[in-house]
Amino acid sequence: MRIVFIGPPGAGKGTQSALLTELLDIPHLSTGDMLREAVAKETTVGRLAAEYMNSGRLVPDPFVVQIVGERLQQPDCERGCLFDGFPRTLGQARSLDEYLAAAGTPLDAVIELRVDEDQLVNRLLGRGRDDDSIDTIRQRFRDYTTMTAPLIDYYSSTGLLRTIDGSGTTNEVFKAIRKALGK
Ligand code: AMP
Repeated sequence: MRIVFIGPPGAGKGTQSALLTELLDIPHLSTGDMLREAVAKETTVGRLAAEYMNSGRLVPDPFVVQIVGERLQQPDCERGCLFDGFPRTLGQARSLDEYLAAAGTPLDAVIELRVDEDQLVNRLLGRGRDDDSIDTIRQRFRDYTTMTAPLIDYYSSTGLLRTIDGSGTTNEVFKAIRKALGK
């Protein structure tokens, strides 16, 4: 299966994607990890990407698409993969669709983990964050919403979107994801 996983920071996306990649036995493709690796290895893309990442901006689509395209050519991706942190723009979403359509392996589903902003803040408060961090959390949540809204609309129109209530326990949320995927 080929799955895009979308979820706000702190909503349990890391935990759920680990469970899901294990269940489906597919590689976990995090563009954040891939870009950090390219930066560490000082590849051409890495050198260009570092500048954007250091200032907290999105790396331009062509670099991200290139790095994902290269990763998808590795044999472990033949059985599918889970995309994490990608796509982040409509351009990336369209490029991914084109790439996968050409390969004859379209996306199977887009999982959106939805958690209410106040609940997310309360969860993180429970972990003992200070006031500064709460503001940061709220800002990150809003940035996330702004950034992902067009993607949610896009995938909703393609019929691939599965919105999952991320407010339950790890097990409850994982069960809901499995049900949505028919697994
Ligand atoms: P992350 O670990 O997903 O938070 O990504 C860390 C940084 O890598 C981001 O702040 C961006 O600069 C860059 N990045 C990761 N994924 C993407 C993407 N799909 N498009 C553009 N930039 C990305």
